[in-house]
Amino acid sequence: MRSKILVTGAGGFIGGHLVAELLRKGHKDVRAVDIKPLNEWHQCFSQVENLQLDLREKAACEQSARGVQQAYNLAADMGGMGFIENNKGLCMLSVLINTHLLMAAHAAGVKRYFYASSACVYAADKQTDPNVTGLKESDAYPAMPEDGYGWEKLFSERMCRHFMEDFGLVTRVARFHNVYGPHGTYDGGREKAPAAICRKVIQAKLSGKNEIEIWGNGEQTRSFMFIDDCIKGIDLIMHSDKVTFPINLGSAEKVSINQLVDIVEDIADIKLKRSYNLSAPKGVNGRNSDNTIIKSRNAGLDWEPSIPLRTGMKKTYEWICREMTGRKTKTHRL
Ligand code: NAD
Repeated sequence: MRSKILVTGAGGFIGGHLVAELLRKGHKDVRAVDIKPLNEWHQCFSQVENLQLDLREKAACEQSARGVQQAYNLAADMGGMGFIENNKGLCMLSVLINTHLLMAAHAAGVKRYFYASSACVYAADKQTDPNVTGLKESDAYPAMPEDGYGWEKLFSERMCRHFMEDFGLVTRVARFHNVYGPHGTYDGGREKAPAAICRKVIQAKLSGKNEIEIWGNGEQTRSFMFIDDCIKGIDLIMHSDKVTFPINLGSAEKVSINQLVDIVEDIADIKLKRSYNLSAPKGVNGRNSDNTIIKSRNAGLDWEPSIPLRTGMKKTYEWICREMTGRKTKTHRL
């Protein structure tokens, strides 16, 4: 029986960690695909078939899906709020990746297909208050997701559902809520808040200018999931027989951006003068994950992400600090 596993977006943050985990679990037949040249991948492993392909192209998806038993689609043109608010068209073009990959997976007889969706699918009117209660899976409808990126994710989720219903391709969809950790983007414009704050605090320390700029008024709230929890959740959801619908995969530990800065300052042992850029992209006022379903016995998972924010942020901070001070730890075993 074939056992090949495909990971797309493998040169990215979550995809790189997923390939690492598959290798740790002893999987020998892994195909890793990303549009970036291999030397730009966050993690790259020589034991794996590494391919540089543009998955917006159908032929590239067909090549990627050939002989595959399980496919994890983590490829998307995305980034933090600074990127998605200013690149809505580019974000929406990721629809080509999931569309062509679903078609190719179905044609190639792939047995299971995972799609990485996002909390950005949730309707804007349910996220106006920083004291938001957790977003339930049903809160995605009536639909009014994040413009551009969120609409693409919601449409692609829906496409996964109909490929399962109409064509029998088993699909699983997780709605990630802000994932953070080492081996991800921390500068260049696509970075998300946890990595950006670590970088700013380190820069403030290194330069001796004890100041930090915060996007928005800092009162906007989010939850942040450490990468190890994310990878475990992907595995549980992918192999669940009961979770046939899009499900939240996120921490329920809600913090404001100001509180996140407090945590990083504490890790760095520094206090910075804060300035607030009220015209910078900041996203919705409040967002948190409702984990009722993922925790429930009925859904068969009985688990939720639980690595404490401070623990995960310490590991992330230390990794970014090493990268910025020249002690690079990029995994390139080619
Ligand atoms: P990432 O940007 O680090 O990884 C995505 C990878 O996809 C990149 O390496 C990129 O080069 C690749 N890619 C983009 N276009 C491609 C194309 N045309 N062909 C092949 N590869 C292409 O992002 P990530 O944080 O690892 O996110 C992985 C998935 O999870 C994405 O679908 C993202 O939308 C989703 N997600 C992530 C978060 C988060 O907090 N990181 C939250 C919600 C959803």
